Amino acid sequence: MYEGHGLYIDGAWRKSASGATYVAINPATEEPIGEAPVAGREDALLAIAAAERGLEAWRRTPAWDRARVLRKVAILLTERMEEIARILTIEVGKPLAQSRREVQLSIDQFEWFAEETKRIFGQSLESRVKDGRMLVDYEPVGIVAAFTAWNFPLLLLSRKIAPALCAGCSIVARPAEEAPGTAMALFTCCHDAGIPAGAVNLLTGPPHEISATLMAAPQVRKVSLTGSIPVGRQIMAAAAQTMKRLSMELGGHAPVIVCADADAEQVAELAVPVKFANAGQVCVSPSRFYVHESRADAFAKRFAETAKGLRIGNGLDPETQLGPLATRRRRDQTEAIVERTRAEGAELLCGGKRPAGFNRGFFYEPTAFKGVTDSAQVMNEEPFAPIAPIATFREFDDAVKRANSLEYGLAAYVFTKSMRLANEARERIETGMIGINTFFLAAAEAPFGGIKQSGFGREGGTIGIRDYQNVKYVHALPA
Ligand code: NAD
Repeated sequence: MYEGHGLYIDGAWRKSASGATYVAINPATEEPIGEAPVAGREDALLAIAAAERGLEAWRRTPAWDRARVLRKVAILLTERMEEIARILTIEVGKPLAQSRREVQLSIDQFEWFAEETKRIFGQSLESRVKDGRMLVDYEPVGIVAAFTAWNFPLLLLSRKIAPALCAGCSIVARPAEEAPGTAMALFTCCHDAGIPAGAVNLLTGPPHEISATLMAAPQVRKVSLTGSIPVGRQIMAAAAQTMKRLSMELGGHAPVIVCADADAEQVAELAVPVKFANAGQVCVSPSRFYVHESRADAFAKRFAETAKGLRIGNGLDPETQLGPLATRRRRDQTEAIVERTRAEGAELLCGGKRPAGFNRGFFYEPTAFKGVTDSAQVMNEEPFAPIAPIATFREFDDAVKRANSLEYGLAAYVFTKSMRLANEARERIETGMIGINTFFLAAAEAPFGGIKQSGFGREGGTIGIRDYQNVKYVHALPA
């Protein structure tokens, strides 16, 4: 499947310098998909050198021309949606409908930033000195290193490549090893759209050597990571040596507060497809449910009934609603969390095991617990799994305190008909994003990102470009 591609450096596909490859596995069948190159130090150095040349060409490309090329990437992604969605499903297991949605969200990134490219305005102020001007210019930050997780292999790359190119940066990307083909498909679109050689570069394979080389290089001025908090800490520490700018899109553990006045059954029905999208492997997945005690039984019952109705299968089957987990490791971790939650005294409502009739593939049933205590591990550590723990609350204040009690601060959701409670939630919940009476957050036009240990920096929205720009202040006086 990866033939004819490989590493993408300086505008061309190539093998790795060592010739080494690794095998990517289809999580629905456990069969090999193909062999992708293992990039090492030599390849990373070539990519950096190409990105230096690419930067010079791209940053001087006029904004309207950069915009046209970005728009062309969006057009090519649109034309190739079916083909790319299929690769995505084969690599990470998500149902085809969800893969198509991921392609659409990625198209949105290129469309949005294509338009924003034309609107990179500086500022001009009057000087305190007669006839002087104070100018604020926004310049590309330089070469960007991008590291992304496997759960949204196309979208996470697009969220970095589109704003970096919009700002005039060049980029060296290292996507997750689980999904090299999805990245290759995106880079093919970049190539065909006419992005100049060196402006975008792709390195595949295990992260450590690539990361160490990019992090040590002073020419790389910025790093953007989407991954877990522990890897975020490693990258931050490494970035300190050369003072690189950072964007950190890290883990979350999103609380969902369902107030007494909400339609609990309706919220449960809304929550199930969101909770089990991508088998729960979503950073903004609703992952801690706090339901008012007067509505908790109704919520839990409807949630479990709806979850049991999800159709499990290979994502390529159009009927499938829940695919496998992306890797054996994730399935093993899911099993461990379930066992631990049981041992901690929670009541299993549905799931809790591998589905019958699946001898191969990393499948796991949609799982929900009620009676989960605040001290349970699943309430404190991001599960990143198809597991929904449901707890209860009596006072709204208490629910807010519990929502804020963790070091995560990526997303939160509140369901209420009360304007007062909605406003309180909006003001008091410590999070980068909050859905009030909705689970819909990710949109190219809105700033996506977290606070606390969920990270910093924003992807999307007008301010998403700022993360890829330096500010240059000029005070100019007449001679
Ligand atoms: P991970 O942090 O283990 O890995 C993320 C990616 O970084 C992988 O491709 C991995 O190979 C790579 N990586 C590992 N060590 C690295 C290093 N030293 N240098 C560079 N890259 C390195 O996370 P994971 O388990 O693969 O992904 C799930 C995590 O990602 C979850 O915590 C999830 O919440 C988070 N995530 C966050 C967002 C967001 O936007 N905030 C989106 C998706 C996923």
